[in-house]
Amino acid sequence: MPELPDVEGHRHLLAEHVAGRTVRGVSVPDAEILVGTTPQGLGRSLRGRQAGDPVRHGKWLWEPFDGPTLVFHFRMTGTLAFGADETPDPEAGDAVLLHLDDGTLRYRTSRRLGRVWWVASADDVADVTGTLGVDVTDMGADRLAELLGHKRGGLKSALMDQELIAGLGNELVDEILWRAKLHPKTSVGDLDRDAVGDLHRRLRQVLRDSIRAGHVPSGPTWLNGQRGSDDPVCPRCHAHLDVGQVSGRTTYRCPREQPGGAL
Ligand SMILES: [Zn+2]
Repeated sequence: MPELPDVEGHRHLLAEHVAGRTVRGVSVPDAEILVGTTPQGLGRSLRGRQAGDPVRHGKWLWEPFDGPTLVFHFRMTGTLAFGADETPDPEAGDAVLLHLDDGTLRYRTSRRLGRVWWVASADDVADVTGTLGVDVTDMGADRLAELLGHKRGGLKSALMDQELIAGLGNELVDEILWRAKLHPKTSVGDLDRDAVGDLHRRLRQVLRDSIRAGHVPSGPTWLNGQRGSDDPVCPRCHAHLDVGQVSGRTTYRCPREQPGGAL
């Protein structure tokens, strides 16, 4: 599933291949994925316009075209690709293609869950994204402490609340809590300043390594590597992991190192 590190990779792709280029035309093989305009309207709006610098905030990404702006969300299966090939491949999930003066950008969503929104200007992006909290990559330890200080309830739910902190998804949060040795249902009010400081250090480390990899890694030292396994075990202490639902999301924790009761 695309998480912030994947979306940051897509931002890099836009910055490298799309920013500064001019739109020659569009193809929309799957009009249901496009929200806010029609395929014809998209072509009329973007043709001849130059792409500006892309912006990522949390798991949202947008690309302004000197006014009109495309907002991308990748949900379970969305992705962006750039290349010389201009031919849509609907079987592969190609939904929206922008033909630029130097190649084609394609938005692909193989299970048709992702969306591309058109808005008239970058000022209208929040109409699509809703209220977003501070981007997690811009958040220092003091800010995390301040945000959690206003929050009640379980820690995992708080960290995944996009209106509080934008950008932490299910895989990232499980990884961070496992490294911080905190139970996902730890009451936010029970964390002292030292615990928040340690949580923030783990968060920065997981984000840095994940962004560098372009996804949440699943190697032998990552909890994420146990996700989906028939018999998941803790990569550190080899205890059998506890798997359950927290806030409706499949959650993994080590019962030995993240004590506090079954999920
Ligand atoms: Zn363990």
